[in-house]
Amino acid sequence: MKIMVVGGAGYIGSHMVKMLLEAKHEVVTFDNLSAGFRDSVLGGDFVEGDLCSRAALDACFVAHRPDAVMHFASFIQVGESVRRPDKYYFNNFSNTLNLLDAMIAHKVRHFIFSSTAAIFGEPQYVPIDELHPTNPLNPYGKSKWMVEQALADYEHAFGLKYVCLRYFNAAGADPSGLLGERHEPETHLIPLILRAASGRLPHIQVFGRDYDTPDGTCVRDYIHIVDLCAAHLLALNQLVQNEQSSHFNLGNGAGFSVQQVIDAAERVTGSKIKVLDGARRAGDPARLVADSSKARLALGWTPRYADLETIIGDAWRWERKMLDKAD
Ligand code: UDP
Repeated sequence: MKIMVVGGAGYIGSHMVKMLLEAKHEVVTFDNLSAGFRDSVLGGDFVEGDLCSRAALDACFVAHRPDAVMHFASFIQVGESVRRPDKYYFNNFSNTLNLLDAMIAHKVRHFIFSSTAAIFGEPQYVPIDELHPTNPLNPYGKSKWMVEQALADYEHAFGLKYVCLRYFNAAGADPSGLLGERHEPETHLIPLILRAASGRLPHIQVFGRDYDTPDGTCVRDYIHIVDLCAAHLLALNQLVQNEQSSHFNLGNGAGFSVQQVIDAAERVTGSKIKVLDGARRAGDPARLVADSSKARLALGWTPRYADLETIIGDAWRWERKMLDKAD
């Protein structure tokens, strides 16, 4: 198949492009490089374009005639989304509708969407399965949930077939060392801890130690980026075969606390990491853990890199590479 990867120059998108090429698919990446990097796209065709431009989208569909679209291009910072809801609704929602409209016009009917655990809001129970009620608490989560709702209507009206993949905490890096997480500014826990370990940052701050968890720090479900991309590939194959839209929660099903992640990072890196205790971050639930049994059952998906030290080890290889580059 020929797959259009929107946001293929970003963290998750670039790993996806690599995996699609390895699976012998053709790829065209569509990315405005606002947060991604051209040299993270390891192959296939590349179109520099913005989702708000219908003309750019039309030109890409006409020139490359993709069979399916995977959409990774979105803003991802919860705090920023509260201050700048306009930015999040415009890019994450309105621009996604622009993409869907272009797909319909060009008769491309298979869509894989990067959604998020943030659509669930404060968990009513954990682990969180697909039946858990949705109640996003911030514009980031709301913008993703709005797309999920629009997709159901687009299926009904236009026959679009889609899979929504709700990510828990994507982490790690390609074991080859060729790709990794390159957010600027970086806000995610594991890369920040590793920057503290490598000396690129003086310390890490723990956002709250008074949560109702065994050690008082927040528990999250870290899923290796390669396992996450593998689920996309399985979802795409199944979607094209079965023509059935669906939703899957993607995580390892194992929660690790912020303190456990710091301890594991110290073991992996052999460095003592300087930790400061900070206040709670607004909107952080105490525990977010996925129940991914639906994906395991329906897609035959089994995470291969579920071990926390493996995830951190691969991210560490990448951090050291970034450190060498900065020198
Ligand atoms: N966190 C932290 N210090 C940091 C960054 C994150 O203590 O500098 C905590 C955060 O409060 C959350 C967990 O680490 O409980 C994971 O946060 P991250 O931003 O990586 O992902 P999120 O869970 O927000 O998607």
